[in-house]
Amino acid sequence: MTERFTGSFTQQEPIPDEGIDAAIAVMRGGRLHRYNTVPGEVAETVLLEQEFAASVGSAYCLAVASGGYAIGTALRACGVKPGDKVLTNAFTLAPVPGAVAGVGAVPVFVGVTEDLVIDLDDLAAKLDQASVLLLSHMRGHLCDMDALMAMCDAADVAVVEDCAHTMGAAWNGKPSGTFGRFGCFSTQTYKHINSGEGGLLISDDAEGMARATMLSGSYMLYTSHAAGPPPEAFAQLRYETPNISGRMDNLRAAILRPQLRDLATQASRWNARYAVVEDGLRDVPGLTLVPRTASESYVASSFQFLLLDWSPEAIADVQARCAARGVELKWFGGAEPVGFTSRYDSWRYAPAEAMPASDRILTGIMDMRLPLTFSEDDCALIARIIRAEVSAVWQAAA
Ligand SMILES: *Cc1c(COP(=O)(O)O)cnc(C)c1O
Repeated sequence: MTERFTGSFTQQEPIPDEGIDAAIAVMRGGRLHRYNTVPGEVAETVLLEQEFAASVGSAYCLAVASGGYAIGTALRACGVKPGDKVLTNAFTLAPVPGAVAGVGAVPVFVGVTEDLVIDLDDLAAKLDQASVLLLSHMRGHLCDMDALMAMCDAADVAVVEDCAHTMGAAWNGKPSGTFGRFGCFSTQTYKHINSGEGGLLISDDAEGMARATMLSGSYMLYTSHAAGPPPEAFAQLRYETPNISGRMDNLRAAILRPQLRDLATQASRWNARYAVVEDGLRDVPGLTLVPRTASESYVASSFQFLLLDWSPEAIADVQARCAARGVELKWFGGAEPVGFTSRYDSWRYAPAEAMPASDRILTGIMDMRLPLTFSEDDCALIARIIRAEVSAVWQAAA
């Protein structure tokens, strides 16, 4: 009998009851706007900011409308101007170069290695082209952050971390998002905590965070930002910084607070599922697993493997055969952008030099989500299906 998987790769878990109750309380009060409080009340948004800052050990946190908005705000707060170049990953998702384009700047793409992290040699070669690196920890893979920060600090390049896939992750015990000048997180449905849309920005830099707070649309109400910088930091900036409205509301914050408390538990559930898939795909001829180092503590909400140096036809065949058995693999190597998947040369608004070494990797990257609605048995079944179909196509080509 041919096994088939029938689960949904896009079905998330429900919002925890505690979050639903907190959301209902906010709605009953009618005070959904973060600055709409009664005397003595601390807005849910402020509580979320305090709790998130404490969870990663950052001085400041600002809740905003989306992860992409957090990135754009961080770039602006770093002083990126129209026409400036910003270094960023060739392997990432469209909102990352989009955030660069959103401030009128021009992305300079840096290559990807077989470990699916930014290529530090390529970065070294391009470091003199920009004063900001927007570093995307794409699919939760962390590069050697000590080496990267040493290079960027020496070149006086500010680092903005895109942590859309690394909320809860760390490098040598230091939380992702606390290495660069800013760390940007998303609370969109497909990330690690779910408020539909939403973003969080962290920093230890009082001036940068004051700028970000004004940019996000604080008006002159910044003193209510208990997880923000002190009022002195706003003394001049409040006159000079435009309001580019993009706040988070209390309803989303209320939904997120209980999920943040559960993040470590959820991370271990994700990693248990990842380990089952990883074990099921060991020693498949032609299939390369992505190594993880002991320095990296990850939250594996998705799984990647490589079909390195396979022909596009053979990869498309694997994808079709897995799909026929209910396993949806995303392919970053496809010539046309599909769904959430696109590549640096699909973003035609941005100049892209040919990157043959990265093209070789991108062509082979297969990707799938591992939602927590999958059981570990589901994950074992998914691995058996991929194993069988990759092996069948590999043997036919041999
Ligand atoms: C989702 C995502 C973003 C943007 O987050 P939104 O909240 O959807 O704006 C940025 N970078 C990466 C890698 C993402 O996956």
